[in-house]
Amino acid sequence: MKVIVIGCTHAGTFAVKQILKEHPDAEVTVYERNDNISFLSCGIALYLDGKVADPQGLFYSNPKELAELGANVKMLHDVKSVDPDKKTIEVEDLQSKQTTNDSYDKLVMTTGSRPVVPPIEGVDNKNVFFCKNWHDAQVLFEKAKDNKRITIVGSGYIGAELAEAYSNHGHDVTLVDTNDRVMSKYFDKKFTDKIEDSYKKHNVKLELNQLVSKFEGDDELTITTDKGQIKTDMAILCVGFRPNTELLKGKVDMLPNGAIKTNDYMQTSDPDIFGAGDSVAVHYNPTGQDAYIPLATNAVRQGILVGMNIEKPTTKYMGTQSSSGLQLYDDTIVSTGLTMANATQQGVEAREVVIEDNYRPEFMPTTTPVLMSLVYDPKTRRILGGSLMSKYDVSQSANTLSVCIQNRNTIDDLAMVDMLFQPNFDRPFNYLNILGQAAQAQADNQ
Ligand SMILES: Cc1cc2nc3c(=O)[nH]c(=O)nc-3n(C[C@H](O)[C@H](O)[C@H](O)COP(=O)(O)OP(=O)(O)OC[C@H]3O[C@@H](n4cnc5c(N)ncnc54)[C@H](O)[C@@H]3O)c2cc1C
Repeated sequence: MKVIVIGCTHAGTFAVKQILKEHPDAEVTVYERNDNISFLSCGIALYLDGKVADPQGLFYSNPKELAELGANVKMLHDVKSVDPDKKTIEVEDLQSKQTTNDSYDKLVMTTGSRPVVPPIEGVDNKNVFFCKNWHDAQVLFEKAKDNKRITIVGSGYIGAELAEAYSNHGHDVTLVDTNDRVMSKYFDKKFTDKIEDSYKKHNVKLELNQLVSKFEGDDELTITTDKGQIKTDMAILCVGFRPNTELLKGKVDMLPNGAIKTNDYMQTSDPDIFGAGDSVAVHYNPTGQDAYIPLATNAVRQGILVGMNIEKPTTKYMGTQSSSGLQLYDDTIVSTGLTMANATQQGVEAREVVIEDNYRPEFMPTTTPVLMSLVYDPKTRRILGGSLMSKYDVSQSANTLSVCIQNRNTIDDLAMVDMLFQPNFDRPFNYLNILGQAAQAQADNQ
């Protein structure tokens, strides 16, 4: 079996390893246009914040490792076209500039995503940057040394983390968003109010509810929005990601944004082409629909599934709740599944209960509040989403709620499911049980 893998960061690396584990005799060729593999972008903000002493630790594999496993690894090779009828690809060696052809029995599209470049005048200004890969991380690290005023456009996860990282190091940070709340796609208002307070306490200037229309200037960058002008030294655009799938445009089924659709076995509409990671749509369990949610969590799982299913359909994709989390200053903020705002936007009938409770008894030397929300279907009482925020590490509780959504548990299950009790950790009912009980009380009174 001759397999070609295009793109090798997370989905590609995991796919290659799994293919070679299951099929040691497969002839696997990897084409990667970059000069590195397996870079953990999730460490960029930590690196900029000085929390990662050695950034080489952000790589968990390398071309040599894959070659030793038996792959033919072609770094700095850009795949230019794919012909699914002839099962061939055209590829350019970026060093020699030579173009060659190769053929496959099975093709793996792990080409990932790139930052959205909005059509804003001056977006190509030398002081406007993006944040995606190891090269971007190095540029952002170096540029920040000479630039005190940094403006982040887009307050999703990445913008939020970059704003925190730079504000921890004496920069004058401004965070701009078209929405009237930070992180509005990920958390409901009670959470984002707290996050905004936290930014203000750390002198991050919030410029919300405004649309950027222009970047201009040589040394000083002027950002024009529909509300005024922001003078800054550099801007970082964090306004989302777009799948790198032009190679297969019109050749396999895709969502309107270009994310490739796959079946439960990561097979595209062409049975000999597989896809995984940021180039494909995920199966989103809270709604049962395909969605575009580019996360490393999905990429590594889907990469493994490609390896398991490449010869014949074997193991089904479980889908995802798109669980995610971040640490902003001293708060852990995590979520899984739908927020109430997401549910409303998508026309999903849902209710939300929000409570705050200390994570363990007050008789302990310390305790601290946990802000929690649970989104559920009022008819079936099925859990659709949840968020938590606390100075206590509540990250694993989002994982518990993720399992509940995956297993289609109800608020009644969560209210009574067995959870350990010991005063060091929690009360006789864990705070997640209490959240389930609050949802029951709300649902029973409607
Ligand atoms: C700053 C930042 C923070 C993040 N934090 C988190 C986090 O905390 N948790 C989380 O789960 N996710 C996080 N993510 C998302 C995560 O990084 C992505 O979901 C993940 O990188 C997707 O992996 P991938 O292999 O599918 O695609 P990519 O990482 O996009 O890699 C695709 C690869 O394909 C190559 N390629 C593309 N086209 C071609 C071609 N034609 N020829 C040859 N090679 C090609 C590219 O060079 C690239 O190496 C973060 C992302 C960023 C940018």
